[in-house]
Amino acid sequence: MSDKQYYENDRIWASGFEHSLDEIERLRAIKSLIAKEVTSLLDVGCGNGHFVNSMLRTEPIGRVCGVDRSRSALSLVKTEKYEASADNLPFKDNEFDLVCAFEVLEHLPIAIYEQAIREITRVAKKHVLISVPFQENIRSELISCPKCFCAFNRSYHLRSFDSNTIQGLFGDSNNKPLLQETKFCGTVRNYWGLSWLKRLVAGFRTPTLPPNAVCPHCGYASKQVERSAEHAEELTLDPPSTSQRVGQLLRGMLPSSTQARWVIAHYTFDQVDSNLQ
Ligand SMILES: [Zn+2]
Repeated sequence: MSDKQYYENDRIWASGFEHSLDEIERLRAIKSLIAKEVTSLLDVGCGNGHFVNSMLRTEPIGRVCGVDRSRSALSLVKTEKYEASADNLPFKDNEFDLVCAFEVLEHLPIAIYEQAIREITRVAKKHVLISVPFQENIRSELISCPKCFCAFNRSYHLRSFDSNTIQGLFGDSNNKPLLQETKFCGTVRNYWGLSWLKRLVAGFRTPTLPPNAVCPHCGYASKQVERSAEHAEELTLDPPSTSQRVGQLLRGMLPSSTQARWVIAHYTFDQVDSNLQ
């Protein structure tokens, strides 16, 4: 019930995250990996339609379809769309030339994850495009529920991906899509010692949840989430709190390094000539 509440939170889908420079770069990189021969595509976990709506505007290819389990998100999708979970896609075998899943796999619990991988393989005819956060440190973004004290990743990310997991994503079955190309984009800054510092600070204060968070264990939500569900038309982003400002200040004092934020992987069945644009 509670993770459903998270994904039905209008604030997430109308937050305007897609206008960041990193997101614009990611969308451009994704489009550069779409072969000219593709005339139908399915976006699994299409969210608010950031990708499919953009494809409609800029790259007319025939059939553009989105599927998501969130009705709130789908209300913003402007093309053919279905309410469904990634592990049970309402389509025929090989129905789409290209099947995409962008920033989806890292959210899936193990049972759904494995079936979703099979479903993507089943409905894809020639190409698969996957994008996930690259080498994400899930533990560095853990937050605690003030009610039941369970800890969870603030973006509901449940798994991390590196070069090996991307290479072996579809396992060893006979009819598996083969990795053709990867692209890295976006930038994330890692701060040395930040997770230790956060744990130290958390030990001295009552935990609070950020605006978008809903506890996956007990369903506790911050007041802002309840308000945003009632007044979706009045959504505005809150200014940073004092503790967030202190956090930013402390980050600036820690040594840090940068790495790519996402990896985008292009797979094809057999030896298809991808004929990239
Ligand atoms: Zn809780």
